[in-house]
Amino acid sequence: MPYIELKSLSFSYPGATGSVSALEDVSLGIERGEFVSVVGKSGCGKSTLLRLLAGLEAPSSGVISIGGESPGPGRGSMIVFQGGGLFPWQTVRGNVVFALRQTHRGLGRAEAEERAGALLEQVELADAAELYPYQLSGGMAQRAAIARALAVDAMTLLLDEPFSALDVGARAQLQRLILRVWENAPGERKTVVFVTHDIGEAMLLSGRIICMRPRSVAGELRFKSPAPRSPESCGAELEAARERLLALMNGGGHDGE
Ligand code: ADP
Ligand code: MG
Repeated sequence: MPYIELKSLSFSYPGATGSVSALEDVSLGIERGEFVSVVGKSGCGKSTLLRLLAGLEAPSSGVISIGGESPGPGRGSMIVFQGGGLFPWQTVRGNVVFALRQTHRGLGRAEAEERAGALLEQVELADAAELYPYQLSGGMAQRAAIARALAVDAMTLLLDEPFSALDVGARAQLQRLILRVWENAPGERKTVVFVTHDIGEAMLLSGRIICMRPRSVAGELRFKSPAPRSPESCGAELEAARERLLALMNGGGHDGE
């Protein structure tokens, strides 16, 4: 049984003029330690899928389980939204300390401060520890949000277009950071579900790409070469992948390897 399992999952948002169906009969499995991207056009249900995985919404029908449990806050997964979602009234360090103490009962302030410092070093934000969110660039805020997600020590990281508001340079830096975090997690590798509308980003980072069409999964694609993939090192594989993904997104192609 895969670590994350969705079986015939459907979800509708309630609305004043009737409910809006966002996902219909989605089934998929994700193994522990996998780095999976989810791509698809705007409005096809990517964020909804992540919200269900985070336990922020409950399925209208079907089953969803992570490690054999239904998802929920504090149950081993952590969602990182675009923009970071930091508490504006706390410093960067304060945000990380808060996350640490929320999730590690009995952790003293001094030790939390120390661990927060180490996490901020890991995301190259040690110099910004005492700044408030409004003082940060987009890339810095996103790095702080990643440090906070690491503080929670979640086995599963759910990332919803985390880099889409960033300029090219900051984006490339953070893409490498997230790969490092995934590869070098102490003990077991984290499971990463990475939502992006950028096919290039998905192809650079993930071992598998799940491609969505409105409300459902259109198909998927697995890479043979390890990430990060550059056009120099695996141009032919990337070219073929791009064509297949575009075909899937636009309704052509068929499912299968
Ligand atoms: P994506 O992240 O792929 O852009 P979403 O998951 O945000 O797509 O949205 C999927 C569908 O659900 C869209 O039709 C969107 O309009 C609808 N939707 C999203 N959030 C809500 C909401 N809070 N209330 C009603 N409909 C929503
Ligand atoms: Mg979205």
